[in-house]
Amino acid sequence: MTDLEARVRSEVDRTRELVVETRRDLHRHPELSHEERRTAARVAQRAQELGFAVRTGLGGAGVVADLDGGRTGLTVMLRADMDALPVTERGSDRVAISEVEGVMHACGHDGHVAMALGAASALTALRGSWSGRLRLCFQPAEEVAEGAVPMIEAGAADGVDRVLGIHLWAPIEAGRVAVTAGTLFGSADSFRITVRGRGGHGGMPHTTIDPVVASAEVIMALQTIVSRETSPFSPAVVTIGRVTGGTAMNVIADSVELLGTVRALEQPERERLLRRVAEVAAAVASASGAEATFEHTAGCPPVISDAGVAGVVRRAAAATVGQDHVDVAHPITVGDDVACFLERSPGCYFLVGAGVPGKVMAPHHSADFDIDERCLTVGVETLVRATLELMGDSAN
Ligand SMILES: [Zn+2]
Ligand SMILES: [Zn+2]
Repeated sequence: MTDLEARVRSEVDRTRELVVETRRDLHRHPELSHEERRTAARVAQRAQELGFAVRTGLGGAGVVADLDGGRTGLTVMLRADMDALPVTERGSDRVAISEVEGVMHACGHDGHVAMALGAASALTALRGSWSGRLRLCFQPAEEVAEGAVPMIEAGAADGVDRVLGIHLWAPIEAGRVAVTAGTLFGSADSFRITVRGRGGHGGMPHTTIDPVVASAEVIMALQTIVSRETSPFSPAVVTIGRVTGGTAMNVIADSVELLGTVRALEQPERERLLRRVAEVAAAVASASGAEATFEHTAGCPPVISDAGVAGVVRRAAAATVGQDHVDVAHPITVGDDVACFLERSPGCYFLVGAGVPGKVMAPHHSADFDIDERCLTVGVETLVRATLELMGDSAN
């Protein structure tokens, strides 16, 4: 074991307690997308204590913190998302439970923030071993895919050469890491379709244009975009998650609103699906005399890791948990707007197993979601090792 090898281990070990404590603190005080004020204040304060130059309020609650090494070199960004979900936590056998009714860290973002701060702390102690600029990026509003773009517009990604980020993943057991060169998560876009008809008396439908019936036809027709127009070898999803319209059983409404989401694993597919949703909705609605307008409300491209940086992360993970505990992750049709950062600079978003070994874990976003906290040190060490390979003196 080289000198640096031994120091990495001991610096990561030194962060363990604070990382767990930070994760539990954030878990007790979860904040919804766009409301991450307390979390942002905590991370800003912690980064300041470590000697980082901190900028706050980037694209909402976003925080960016920079620390320069001795010599010039690459700028590497460690990105962590901060928001929680509108879920009421179930179960009392937890090391930490949400103290905010109806809000819960049910996706593990509390751990993401804690791991990034832990890595920052270890890398600060190892400052003599790397060159360039280390940038921490704490992003709000990931769950609604509205956090990355405003941060980028506010300059958070300016000058960034490489991006690293972790998603804790409960279906994989703690002690394992999964890395993919290429697509990890799909695109995630949301849209609104407004179907406009002409309201009137429920007993005299022939004098109206019924947007409820037109919407029903639109919803059914949208199902054929995946089942009839998409290759069975190309995973894709079109979901209508909310339908709103009408006021009474005997009143035909003027309009109906549909909210939905589209997922794909490749950018051309993503664009095709969005285009077809708009076209099918307009055409089917017009068949009954109604009118459908399509509005793309938010979205992010697929999460794609650069092969070179994925190789760096794979080596870092193998040094952390052993080669036989590093897997290749298969693409998953969830989204993450870390994709917007990865679109600008090569990087790697990877999965760190967070499941209790041998136990079937509750899914992400569920009220029973939980993690095995042993995953946190694995994440910190992998981040530190990957950053050192990218910024270390041997890399320049
Ligand atoms: Zn989530
Ligand atoms: Zn998440």
